[in-house]
Amino acid sequence: MSSESILDATLEAKIEQSKKLLIQIASDYAPATFANSFGAEDMVATDLICKFAPEIEIFSLDTGRLPQETHTVIQEAMTHYQRKFVIYAPESSDIEAYVRRNGPDAFYDSVDLRKECCRIRKVLPLQRALQGKKAWVTGMRAEQSPTRGELPESEWDEGNGLQKFNPLSSWSNQEVWAYIRHFGVPYNKLHDQHYASIGCAPCTRAIAMGEDIRAGRWWWEDPDNKECGLHVKK
Ligand code: SF4
Repeated sequence: MSSESILDATLEAKIEQSKKLLIQIASDYAPATFANSFGAEDMVATDLICKFAPEIEIFSLDTGRLPQETHTVIQEAMTHYQRKFVIYAPESSDIEAYVRRNGPDAFYDSVDLRKECCRIRKVLPLQRALQGKKAWVTGMRAEQSPTRGELPESEWDEGNGLQKFNPLSSWSNQEVWAYIRHFGVPYNKLHDQHYASIGCAPCTRAIAMGEDIRAGRWWWEDPDNKECGLHVKK
């Protein structure tokens, strides 16, 4: 069976559309950068960028609390694509102050302490990653969460002061996995253990059949507020 025959026409059209957008970002918004968490959709975006728009930088935020499986897929992807990714870490003084004041797992104690942990481990490093860039790219999809219901392919990111692109906005979960399997894209093996959306180890769990795709993130909080601050509109 030829590789073309097992991708349906809708997915082929979406691949083409995402590819065109990435090529346009690389030419019209240089320097542009892609925020890669190495989850399933981000691996699709990684594959498309490495193949068709390699000028787009790829970076990731190593929060210091990521699961080993995420480090494993980062290493695998570096080998697979023969490409180095830019890894940002939090400021050690911020982490030391937070842990001294609140304890290492204080994010379970209140939404404020959870958001403060996300701020120092993710939001501040993201701001450093976006400095000097004209645009950033994400692998977000509109159907991923109630808080992401409306997700344009292109939007002005007021908070960070640059254009933001979501080239996989219209993709379904099934299409993401069809792409990964079809093209042999490396992926985080936690997905095989029913982890749908993967973040830091203490704040991510597997989901049960029928649960929302992001139910495993910050599961102890109200679903309408479950964002880490990286994708919040100001
Ligand atoms: S996801 Fe959890 S551990 Fe990671 S930065 Fe946010 S609160 Fe901290």
